[in-house]
Amino acid sequence: MGKITIAIDGYSSTGKSTIAKQLAKALNYVYVDTGAMYRAVTLYAIQNNFVGDQDDIEGLVNDLPNINLKFVPNTDLGLSEMHLNGKNVEKEIRTMKVSGQVSKVATIPEIRHKLVEMQKQMGTEKGIVMDGRDIGTVVFPNAELKIFMTASPNARATRRYKELLDRGEDVSFEEVLENVQKRDFIDSTRKTSPLRKADDAIEFDNSDMGLAEQFGRIHDFALRVIGKLG
Ligand code: C5P
Repeated sequence: MGKITIAIDGYSSTGKSTIAKQLAKALNYVYVDTGAMYRAVTLYAIQNNFVGDQDDIEGLVNDLPNINLKFVPNTDLGLSEMHLNGKNVEKEIRTMKVSGQVSKVATIPEIRHKLVEMQKQMGTEKGIVMDGRDIGTVVFPNAELKIFMTASPNARATRRYKELLDRGEDVSFEEVLENVQKRDFIDSTRKTSPLRKADDAIEFDNSDMGLAEQFGRIHDFALRVIGKLG
């Protein structure tokens, strides 16, 4: 059976990665969370004072060769974790501190260029589910299946808020809602590869849909496309 490339894009906290992970597991495909890559670069930028009260974007761009990103498989969990310069940063990259800066860092063309090249490399063999903002438009414009996930800002902030509370972060719902909306605004208005639905992507609104139903529908889309390839 031929393998395909699956691109899942959409707004912040629409549950892209949850579905993408499940789908990759069911199809025995590789899963790549591109948000983790932008988040790891942002963590590096924060740690080295390139962003914060004052930004030094030129300094960050010059330092790009010193940023080494790697997805390392965790066999216990059955998934890969982001390592930044040899250190597992999976937890740190999900904090509000990183969320507050990541969309700004993701507007920098040199950074996008570096990460997009890495992502294209990871997909040369197909059999991949990749989620992000520009996967169907820029990274894999020829992907056989493209999904564009949307949900109301309230539904998204509610999910994200619960996730952060579960992880023990001290945040308010308003703060999370504001962050989700701000990131969407920056992501969809930036000059380099803004967040937008690819013309051939299936728009998928999951505001009122549970996980099992979302997975069932998207899994069906994938099986149909794979079946057509014979
Ligand atoms: O997917 P996640 O919410 O973790 O992504 C964090 C941020 O990284 C996004 O808000 C966006 O600014 C940036 N991003 C991007 N392009 C991607 C993936 C993420 O610009 N392909």
